[in-house]
Amino acid sequence: MSKVAKFGGSSLADANQFRKAGDIVRADSSRLFVVPSAPGKRFPKDTKVTDMLLALYKSAAEGEDFDELLAAIKARYDEIITGLQLDISLDDEFAEIRRVMKEEPYEDYAASRGEYLNGRIMAAYLDFPFIDPYEAIFFNEEGTLNSYKTEKVLSKLLAEAGHAVIPGFYGQGKDGRIKTFSRGGSDITGSIVASAAKVDTYENWTDVSGFLVADPRVVKDPVTIHTITYRELRELSYMGAAVLHEDAIFPVRSKGIPINIRNTNKPEDEGTWIVESTAKKPKFTITGVAGKKGFCAVLISKAMMNSEIGFGRKVLEAFEENHISFEHMPSGIDTMTIVVHETEFMDKEQRVVSAIHRMSQPDSVEIESDLALIAVVGRAMRSMRGTAARIFSALAHAHVNIRMIDQGSSELNIIIGVENKDFETAIRAIYDIFVTTQL
Ligand code: ASP
Repeated sequence: MSKVAKFGGSSLADANQFRKAGDIVRADSSRLFVVPSAPGKRFPKDTKVTDMLLALYKSAAEGEDFDELLAAIKARYDEIITGLQLDISLDDEFAEIRRVMKEEPYEDYAASRGEYLNGRIMAAYLDFPFIDPYEAIFFNEEGTLNSYKTEKVLSKLLAEAGHAVIPGFYGQGKDGRIKTFSRGGSDITGSIVASAAKVDTYENWTDVSGFLVADPRVVKDPVTIHTITYRELRELSYMGAAVLHEDAIFPVRSKGIPINIRNTNKPEDEGTWIVESTAKKPKFTITGVAGKKGFCAVLISKAMMNSEIGFGRKVLEAFEENHISFEHMPSGIDTMTIVVHETEFMDKEQRVVSAIHRMSQPDSVEIESDLALIAVVGRAMRSMRGTAARIFSALAHAHVNIRMIDQGSSELNIIIGVENKDFETAIRAIYDIFVTTQL
């Protein structure tokens, strides 16, 4: 058995959190590779070290005095070092950061130092070798990951080290300068390391015990999802249920390595397993329910639409011409509905409507706003009779008016459109009928 353990910012926010992470690594000798984030928030109003570093860069780029900010960042690390009673100093590292910020400041370099410094501390604390991703993770000219070179160099370095700390979030750009992933990108590093080391499990340690069946801001104490497939996860993440960076999926998925989301503050919890496929029967018919407010539906009607060749293309062209992507497209015999994001659509609304008229000569175009979409997701739905009926009767009982229904042919999900004001009631009703009543 071998594992990669990636720790998020809240898991390494101070000495106390570091100690928990250290205990977790030491508790299982198969946790060979550790990928730390930068120190995150210690309390809700706190500032993440990455954000402090980005502010530092801004000051430096504008030629302002940044010493106070740099001292505040150093204080965050010194507190961790002292709290862990480590016999190391980051004075040289900070002198180097100060030099670069004075002489040739650039944003990615500044942002990456949060992970770099935390990696140094973590390596000393665990007494693990340190691998700098600058030497091991490479980007192409366009800024995408150079997976071929990365895999080649990184897997060799990891194999030679046997066990190591590899900071998250950055690597080396084609121009030889440091380059970071997008925000939250340490998840991606963890996945790349897991893939290169060919471990059995990619553990992603954070501050929740995995994915929840519903949003805890809407449903009180929702249950945790035990196992979710990558495809189900994609459906739920699309609706905003985010715990993991989306780009973190590919490297491990392509190697068949499962991701285990774990809680640093409750290591006894098993967390959520994200897998390619599974024979495990889920406990509930649905794996999860998630949704988003703020959609618009553009309803296009035209008699005999079904027999007019090219009608749909002309309508979609009106959206394309205005650079609007559409989210869903349920259709009837003489009607077609295009669902778009309100924010993307609002400013261009009249231009789109006139383009639809010009291109496809419909009988009418109507717009409905304040629409919320809810995705009920579950691999078990395919083999269960009456799932849709249960959803609809639960919503009817809760006095929610359904405005739209869309079921993809994968039968992995049913998307329901309701009015924004009914959003929370609808989610609770669906959760209750599938989960609360089955507990
Ligand atoms: N520290 C970076 C951020 O705040 C990357 C990460 O934590 O994954 O976005």
